[in-house]
Amino acid sequence: MSKTRTSPRLAPAALPEAPEAEGDPFGLDLLDAAKTEAPAPPSWRMAEQAYEDRFAPGERVGVLPLGALDRLLDYKAPKDGCAPGAFVEVPLGPRQIVGIVWGPGTGEVPEARLRPVSRILDAPPLRAPMREFLGRAADYTLTPLPAMVRLATRAPGLTEGQAMRHVYRLGPREAGRMTDARARALAVLRDHPEMSFTLGELANMAGVGTAVIKGLVTQGAVVETEAPRDQPYPVLDLDAHGVSLTPDQMLAAAALRIGAEARSYNTTLLKGVTGSGKTEVYLEAVAETLRQGRQALVLLPEIALTGAFLARVEKRFGAPAAEWHSGMTQTERRRLWRMAATGGASLVVGARSALFLPFRDLGLVVVDEEHDTSYKQEDGVLYNARDMAVLRASIEKSQVILASATPCLESWHNAEIGKYARLTLPARVGLAVLPTIKAVDMRLEDIARGNWVSPTLANAVAARLERQEQSLLFLNRRGYAPVTLCRSCGHQLGCPHCDARLVEHRFMRRLMCHQCGETQPMPIACPDCGAEGKLAPVGPGVERLGEEVAALFPTARTAVLSSDLYGSAKSLKDAIEQIADGAADIVIGTQLVAKGHNFPNLTLAGVIDADLGLYGSDLRAAERTFALMRQVSGRAGRAEAPGEAMLQTYQPHHPVIQAILRDDDEGFWRAEAEARRMAGMPPFSRLAGIILSSEDAQEVMDKAVEMSRHIEPLRRIGAEVWGPAPAPIARVRGRHRVRLLVKADRAAPLQDALARWAAQFRFPSDLRLTIDIDPQSFM
Ligand code: ADP
Ligand code: ZN
Repeated sequence: MSKTRTSPRLAPAALPEAPEAEGDPFGLDLLDAAKTEAPAPPSWRMAEQAYEDRFAPGERVGVLPLGALDRLLDYKAPKDGCAPGAFVEVPLGPRQIVGIVWGPGTGEVPEARLRPVSRILDAPPLRAPMREFLGRAADYTLTPLPAMVRLATRAPGLTEGQAMRHVYRLGPREAGRMTDARARALAVLRDHPEMSFTLGELANMAGVGTAVIKGLVTQGAVVETEAPRDQPYPVLDLDAHGVSLTPDQMLAAAALRIGAEARSYNTTLLKGVTGSGKTEVYLEAVAETLRQGRQALVLLPEIALTGAFLARVEKRFGAPAAEWHSGMTQTERRRLWRMAATGGASLVVGARSALFLPFRDLGLVVVDEEHDTSYKQEDGVLYNARDMAVLRASIEKSQVILASATPCLESWHNAEIGKYARLTLPARVGLAVLPTIKAVDMRLEDIARGNWVSPTLANAVAARLERQEQSLLFLNRRGYAPVTLCRSCGHQLGCPHCDARLVEHRFMRRLMCHQCGETQPMPIACPDCGAEGKLAPVGPGVERLGEEVAALFPTARTAVLSSDLYGSAKSLKDAIEQIADGAADIVIGTQLVAKGHNFPNLTLAGVIDADLGLYGSDLRAAERTFALMRQVSGRAGRAEAPGEAMLQTYQPHHPVIQAILRDDDEGFWRAEAEARRMAGMPPFSRLAGIILSSEDAQEVMDKAVEMSRHIEPLRRIGAEVWGPAPAPIARVRGRHRVRLLVKADRAAPLQDALARWAAQFRFPSDLRLTIDIDPQSFM
């Protein structure tokens, strides 16, 4: 297992010999790796000093350009020397480019021709553990190092200096007349003497208008000064108490606190049904990590969940966490990037990309809803944030908590064989009990064509309306109808660029392709036969279900929750909060609603089509259906009122439906693990998806056939190759797609073999090769 990398990954043909198969050399079996490394120094900050000797003036350094070049370029350190990991500007031909001092030089350029680094940029250097993480993540995902490094350096402003801005602090005088609003603003300043707030931040935190603060400035109770633009985040109050934990929660929290104190790598699967207090428990680990002077990161699968989480952190610790996701402004991103690097942000909550922030001393990563598929990035650099969190933690000597009611099979298996520790919260808190789950056998229901709510489910909803409780109807299909059919000629409206149907979105009055995003107005005439007024919707989407429900319950207030019905993450968040407050009687939603939102008055969860996921051709179809159905049923009955879940199914005897009904999760995972073991599938083997795409259908198939005929490097490690075959969605955005699947032993050096294999071929410039390690999607 290599320690720090000194050179970026070279072109595949030049890779060094395959390392000895020592366990799982590229894999994430990091518990083993952590054991074989030297004992951890007491703190990374001390380690840094030993590790990170500055380069002396004139010393040869290797600089990784942030552009496309996948190699180190040699330069001389500038006259004051420079730190490893420093961001620098260097001359390249006539230009100046930005790069990172990655380590010692390669020696490729003769001493006489070595040019000096032009300038060190005003940004915190990328620390050794971070560089090692990026290097190993690049190796694992077969990504060129600069592309991986770009994930960690997306925050803007690297080449700008530190500008100043107006901030507000306590002033020397008393405020003349004290109002509630004024008192609140002054209290915020008193509680956070370490902070310099902008006008907006102070107003926000105090919950007052900016005029209140300006008034205090006029009176001299608050003064306006200048401070560097990027300020630390408010310090969390670690002495504040949370709720009093139940005995089970206490045991789990104690184990996690010990994990934080250990300052060594460890991963724990925190399993517990929705509402069992997982968040409450991992916040205890966050507190301990911060007490140790280290930083913590909480990853959430969905931006819409951050609002509730921030509020919770603020309630628990007196100040919110710093947030990181795609909806933030450039200014906020730059601030957080720098504060993560300098320690001015102690708790960060974010989407998967937050894992690439340059934390100064990352002590804890929580991956909440760890089974969620959105942790896998499916375009650009293909990585799974859950697995990368484990990799990063093993390098940073930190703790990982994987929290879920329905962990993915890989995590469940790792806990089962002792690679991960496991903590289980057995019960819901307080009086709340798990919902009873029933199947509605659709073969026996009397239901009109074009309707989807069975009489049994409708009766259950009516009973909730009577009692003024909320119902959720779950259907994992956006839009109005998945298919639009011409009743005259049978033609189905399809996307011109993809092998996919156009989905009607009546709310937007358009047809949309869910593959490429193509939209068109709804035509009046069939594009095939020209018949007018013959186009008819087929099958249900949430919008259409909304119509049905409105007709069934004309006086009920219904709300349809689907990501595309809201203009922004913010408006969606607001809608969710209003619904939680009781603004709707019947909530109709896509999988968005399955993800951890807390609707206290919801006592019925109805699944319109529990069979939807069971037909999937992919490896994880059963697992996903199981997880989703359990998550949806878990929405019901969180507070004191007991909940009920109903699954509409045409296959009530299907093993997955049966496992859900029996609420037998361990039994389900054991059976599923056994099936995977028999089939030699992950986690008992490793897969790589190979996707070739081109606008030329013949060219792409020919190349795939050629690749399948020269598999010597793969055969040498005992790997099997399946395909080529046209991908299930054979054309996306006008590109034809062909897939191969490679399967190898867990211990085999798969990435190295794949790189050697791919290096044998020449690819025409319009043909794209994508290698997806541990694929989630097989489409
Ligand atoms: P999970 O993350 O497992 O869904 P949460 O931590 O969100 O569970 O807890 C569910 C709800 O129960 C929250 O409102 C939380 O504040 C509350 N809760 C959890 N544990 C306790 C406890 N020991 N005492 C009181 N309330 C609790
Ligand atoms: Zn399309």
